[in-house]
Amino acid sequence: MQCCACGAVAQDKTPGDVDGVIIVCRRCGEYGISLSLPKCSDALANAKRFAQAGQWPIIDTRCIWG
Ligand SMILES: [Zn+2]
Repeated sequence: MQCCACGAVAQDKTPGDVDGVIIVCRRCGEYGISLSLPKCSDALANAKRFAQAGQWPIIDTRCIWG
């Protein structure tokens, strides 16, 4: 699959019990998306700001306003 933030080839690491998608990108690292977005490069930066230490950044509606 493609990283939705930078467009590089990325891995889908979503476990079955997660509501959303977990993406592992060599450029962006590991992050989650809780909803489908057409473009989330800015949203990922926001998600990283919201993320707690030790947690994956999760892109959700909080990250879209940026
Ligand atoms: Zn990426």
